[in-house]
Amino acid sequence: MQKYNLDLHYHSPYAAACSKNISISLLSKEAKLKGLNLITTADSLHPIWKKHIKENIIEKDECLIFKEDKNNLEKTNFLLGVEVESAKRVHHLLYFRNLQHLDTFKKEINKYSQDMEKYGGGRPRLSLTPQELLDICVDYQVPLGPAHVFTPYFGVFAHYSSLKEAYGKNWKKIKFLELGLSADTQTANIIPDLKEVKFFSFSDSHSPYSYRIGREYVCADLKKPNYDSFLDLLNNKKGNKILYNVGYNPLEGKYNKSACKTCKQLYSLEQATVNNWRCIKCKGVVKKGVGDRAKEIAILQGNKKLLEVTKRPNYKYLIPLAQIIQIAIKQKNIQHKSVLEIYNQFIEQHTEIDIMLNVCEEKLNKINENIARYIIAFRNDLVVFRPGGAGHYGVPYITFSKKEKEEKQKEIDKETEIDLVQKTLF
Ligand SMILES: [Zn+2]
Ligand SMILES: [Zn+2]
Repeated sequence: MQKYNLDLHYHSPYAAACSKNISISLLSKEAKLKGLNLITTADSLHPIWKKHIKENIIEKDECLIFKEDKNNLEKTNFLLGVEVESAKRVHHLLYFRNLQHLDTFKKEINKYSQDMEKYGGGRPRLSLTPQELLDICVDYQVPLGPAHVFTPYFGVFAHYSSLKEAYGKNWKKIKFLELGLSADTQTANIIPDLKEVKFFSFSDSHSPYSYRIGREYVCADLKKPNYDSFLDLLNNKKGNKILYNVGYNPLEGKYNKSACKTCKQLYSLEQATVNNWRCIKCKGVVKKGVGDRAKEIAILQGNKKLLEVTKRPNYKYLIPLAQIIQIAIKQKNIQHKSVLEIYNQFIEQHTEIDIMLNVCEEKLNKINENIARYIIAFRNDLVVFRPGGAGHYGVPYITFSKKEKEEKQKEIDKETEIDLVQKTLF
């Protein structure tokens, strides 16, 4: 058994709004800088991208690797995967054993796609309901799990109140789901239906660079970094298991709290309901947050006290290093030269994951004392967030003492609260 860091959801150049530079070679290189060991080819149903995968991925020792890694001691391993969109615009993640498995499935699924061969079709739209899609996946032995499950518009729980309602008779064949940036384990672990379902945290990145991929990942014990061990992990077999999840504090996610789409005012579920999901400040639409949606579903499924459903691996919060640097040097653009210069100094000798979680203070100080101070504050849990909502990311603030943290928290609470009694317009 060995420890691997997995990020199995992001995109190729052929999905909408993605970096055109993405290639297997670049992904392999950037994953090493980040500290990821098992990543995905992504978008593997797309014909041009699939050709690129075929030309660049080889099988060695039962694992799929980038061909130039053949003789390297350190290898980036790949899993063939794809995200697809079904009816109601629900997103699902699928994985394949090898190219043959992928081709057989593609032949069947081609019948239901208009855009798979087109440029934005890396995440193809299928004219299938979630249930029809799952039934086909079961026939072809393709593991399926819903992506960013609570996200408004594209998450399964935006449209359905249980996996059974969405996926029908085969729903118990669903062995995993992706939490999405606005949720963590705690958010989802109140839903009774999900008791046997593994929780994944992946980046859903649209850029291949190490400061983007792996912003969320899963650390797992695997026999081998390959499809068989991945299946074994899903089915609790042979000791393959998730050790812990790593990702954003959900408060930083775009859809964490219920909030006004126009003026960003935050609402509690009760406040929003009382006001018919209209903003009392600007009359804008209030969009339901991921946390509130999860609570609603839990209650609908009978967990009225919102108790934890089962014991699960820890969820560790992470802020990407480039973002820490951005905050420290007050630079708005994460891709600015000044951010990347410092970033590159840090990842010269260590992976980004190691820098953020493990490398000792003394070593960090030698690289850059100012940034080291921020990393240590992050490790000491001195970060407070102005929560995200209605499509606006939350904002992290790094403080340097418990007292400063409390004061900043009070300031945020005051700034975000709303006095319903006095301001109600309806
Ligand atoms: Zn998606
Ligand atoms: Zn408003």
